[in-house]
Amino acid sequence: MDRPLPTLRGEPLQITILGAGIAGLAAATLLARTGHRVELLDERFVIPAVGTVLGLFRPAQEVLRRLGVLEAAQELAAAPERGTLRAADGRVLADLPSGGALLLSRSVLVRLLQEALPVEVRTETRRIQDVRPLRDRADLLIGADGVHSLVRRSGWPGRPAARSHGMTVLRGTTDAPPPEISETWGGGWLFGITPLAGIGTNWFACIPEHRTPTTRASLEHLRTVVGGHRPAIDEVLAAAAPERTLVHGIHTAPAVLPVREGTVLLGDAAHAMAPNLGHGANTALADAAALAEALAEAPGPSAALRSYALRRTLPGQAWRLGSAMMMRLAMLETGAPLRDRLLGGAPLSGPSGRGS
Ligand SMILES: Cc1cc2nc3c(=O)[nH]c(=O)nc-3n(C[C@H](O)[C@H](O)[C@H](O)COP(=O)(O)OP(=O)(O)OC[C@H]3O[C@@H](n4cnc5c(N)ncnc54)[C@H](O)[C@@H]3O)c2cc1C
Repeated sequence: MDRPLPTLRGEPLQITILGAGIAGLAAATLLARTGHRVELLDERFVIPAVGTVLGLFRPAQEVLRRLGVLEAAQELAAAPERGTLRAADGRVLADLPSGGALLLSRSVLVRLLQEALPVEVRTETRRIQDVRPLRDRADLLIGADGVHSLVRRSGWPGRPAARSHGMTVLRGTTDAPPPEISETWGGGWLFGITPLAGIGTNWFACIPEHRTPTTRASLEHLRTVVGGHRPAIDEVLAAAAPERTLVHGIHTAPAVLPVREGTVLLGDAAHAMAPNLGHGANTALADAAALAEALAEAPGPSAALRSYALRRTLPGQAWRLGSAMMMRLAMLETGAPLRDRLLGGAPLSGPSGRGS
């Protein structure tokens, strides 16, 4: 924040946003609406082909309301009231109230956010290799460029790159209705089943890292790891198809203060987290709203960035750390029976509350 920025009042900022994911799209709309000149760059403005589901909680829904897309999101989302956390043998370990979360397809959310973009936002499809020209021509550069953020790696020298956690995540959708709403923790794997609005199932799984040449082979490998434990999982995996499955690793961002010299990080660029608490997109939306508010309320842009850092650093890092802890607990291999016993309050033998 050494470089003085023009004051907001009476003088709109020239803002460049790198990354048109959930964070960048939301920020572009909110900032353009407050009168800033916004350009939004991404290497691809596409709607994800496989629409796996994101859980969006009340604070994120409030941001969607401000963006003018909440009603559409509500119409297109599933909103189950509860699900269960289960052990590999089907025992119910915990009842999980949804907390009013909307389960919305990522494709639908991105489409709604793209449609909400004001026409004044200048968009450009280009892969950026060097952020210096962007920084030079803008009053404020926003890095909303995801977990491997070039903006973070360029502007925060000495910070390590994103860290891999040695896991493989598979997720997908099917057209069959979900046999149940659950997350099952095995020994060293997890499998989740949620509804996909309309009629369909969203599923996700996490297993120790396993590289295969094709998605089909990854799906086959998943069946060998998690198959045969619970009929509900077998049913979902029988319907899963490679063309509706995504496979990737889990990477998290290093801890950073998300503001620096006319540059600010939002979303995964600032605090990419393990998916286990389902809060990455929620936090990205909260970041975008907080930055727009800070720029509108603070006496000048430098003060706005300080205010943003004060408001968003702790929540972002808390979710990042909490998600990592939850990932370790969910993926426990040795000691999983003890974990399940503590969670479920059941004896190690003689399962109670056994599910499907
Ligand atoms: C399995 C899984 C389940 C999840 N479930 C949930 C959930 O239930 N609820 C939830 O809140 N969150 C969830 N998340 C997290 C959520 O998906 C992310 O936190 C969120 O999408 C991050 O959005 P973003 O805009 O910060 O980054 P991204 O979506 O990664 O967007 C970054 C954008 O920057 C662009 N970009 C990057 N570098 C460049 C470059 N050099 N040049 C040009 N363009 C560039 C990319 O093309 C991309 O469009 C989940 C994540 C995973 C992996």
